[in-house]
Amino acid sequence: MTIIGLIQGLYIVAGIMFILSLAGLSKQSTARPGNIIGIVGMALALSATVWYSIYLSAEFPEDRQPVWLTTVLIAAALAIGLSVGAPIARRVEMTQMPELIAAFHSFVGLAAVLVGINSFLAERGGGSLHVVEVALGVLIGAYTFTGSVVAFLKLSARMKSAPLVLPGRNLLNMSAFVLFFALIIWLVALGDGNHTLGLVLVVVMTLIGFALGWHMVAAIGGGDMPVVVSMLNSYSGWAAAAAGFLLGNNLLLITGALVGSSGAILSYIMCRAMNRSFISVILGGFGSDDGAPAGASDGPAGEHTEITVDGAVESLTSAKSVIITPGYGMAVAKAQYPVAELTQRLRARGVKVRFGVHPVAGRLPGHMNVLLAEAKVPYDIVLEMDEINGDFADTDVVLVIGANDTVNPAANDDPTSPIAGMPVLEVWKAQHVIVFKRSMATGYAGVQNPLFFKENTDMLFGDAKTQVEAIVAALPALQKV
Ligand code: NDP
Repeated sequence: MTIIGLIQGLYIVAGIMFILSLAGLSKQSTARPGNIIGIVGMALALSATVWYSIYLSAEFPEDRQPVWLTTVLIAAALAIGLSVGAPIARRVEMTQMPELIAAFHSFVGLAAVLVGINSFLAERGGGSLHVVEVALGVLIGAYTFTGSVVAFLKLSARMKSAPLVLPGRNLLNMSAFVLFFALIIWLVALGDGNHTLGLVLVVVMTLIGFALGWHMVAAIGGGDMPVVVSMLNSYSGWAAAAAGFLLGNNLLLITGALVGSSGAILSYIMCRAMNRSFISVILGGFGSDDGAPAGASDGPAGEHTEITVDGAVESLTSAKSVIITPGYGMAVAKAQYPVAELTQRLRARGVKVRFGVHPVAGRLPGHMNVLLAEAKVPYDIVLEMDEINGDFADTDVVLVIGANDTVNPAANDDPTSPIAGMPVLEVWKAQHVIVFKRSMATGYAGVQNPLFFKENTDMLFGDAKTQVEAIVAALPALQKV
């Protein structure tokens, strides 16, 4: 077997490991081995790529830089990547994961842009197909780059989550696409004619991609961000696949296609969960159709009632069934450990305790499931929204721990609400609802929540961790009574 054959074989093995990894990651119980297979696959892929580059430098010295330079460049790239990536990954809080993921997507986009421009410069006379590949590569890459930067800024609250509304925004987007396709035709027609003009056209296409990515993601309101994050995940995959095409690297092509298609499937699932149209998401024109910003139900909408820790304990001790609906606030407060402890105590008292997890609770898909698994809450009592929504009416107490948008009845009742149509956990149907949060502030979508003003709802203000710990501490005392 030739060395190139061996390296291609390693690429195929790495590709298979990525597929096995995705299969493992699809279930909580197999997620850890799935992750390990992915890490080993990536280590294999990196090693094979380094070997391939050094081999090419050694075999074709007339086309490439000397072996020592290739080795130094690769070592420098690896050292920079490791010294930046490892500390960030170690330091990042679970609540910051979505913004980190958005930041990583932006790197993939930028890399695809650089590969595209480099490929245009390096391969003069590559033919029409090549310039079309370059054009699509830079467009997807540039879109992914600025779109992910905006997503990062919105998720980290450095930019307001309300949608940016430019007049005639759909027309603007459409004109940008028309201009882009006109430039492709011009570029193809240029052929080998004027390489400098060709480069200018490629740069203009890149700028169009940057503007589109920025505008289309900025135009999306807070509540719809989960779909945008998974969509950018998909685009980062297609950007990598485009780079794979341009570099003639099969593994990058396979990996990009895997990320692109799994991201697209995730976007589709998220769209269904949020009752949004998949097509309008792809076109970037959703969330606030005519640009009406979140606001119709912003102000206070009635009187709320408060409850103390003792009151909550009393309600829980007389309950036979309890459902806990966690949200982003549980992640911020790191309340999953006392919540797990509370669950254990209540179950020991014979109370039926279950969790209702909304598909977009928290800030990334599966966020709540990860936290609950971390705190060793048994998987079999953690149910998805569709599995538990019919049971609230027969439930004595619901504990809403740091959730807001995902338990907002306005999604069902108020067609003018920015989150109208999004299925939510129907907690208000239970006999008694206790909401754990620090204030009357709105959730991520910036929409007021009528749940807080319902007669059967009480607010337990304060940090969720502190309050749940206080309840846990008070429970045994009551047990002795
Ligand atoms: P929300 O973001 O709607 O609300 C979280 C609530 O937690 C806030 O109202 C806040 O109120 C409260 N909170 C914050 N810190 C604490 C604390 N220390 N103790 C107690 N409460 C706290 O949460 P949900 O999970 O219900 O909804 C998720 C939202 O995020 C949805 O709009 C979703 O679309 C969006 N999103 C989801 C993504 C995903 O993939 N899952 C990705 C991007 C966005 P207060 O300040 O008063 O304490």
